[in-house]
Amino acid sequence: MTVLVENYFQVDWRSRTLECEACEWRGDSRQMSLEPHEDLSEYLCPRCEDILLVVRHPDMDQVRAAAAAGHPEALEQLALVEEYLQRAQD
Ligand SMILES: [Zn+2]
Repeated sequence: MTVLVENYFQVDWRSRTLECEACEWRGDSRQMSLEPHEDLSEYLCPRCEDILLVVRHPDMDQVRAAAAAGHPEALEQLALVEEYLQRAQD
């Protein structure tokens, strides 16, 4: 079964241990193979390449809300985006 993460900042999906139903491999996202797409990232079983985890990328509203709540990764992303926007204006 594929686990879908809808809210990037509210779920501790990175360290969650998942089991692959196809080959019984167990591990968390850091051991899976990452396949990034435009709107989401897929994490594949390193053994049989079944998709175990799908993480939807946060939109700017989610980044802003999480940054306002003090989420360190959101603050980092927001800083990057703002730097990029500033440079685009110059
Ligand atoms: Zn597997």
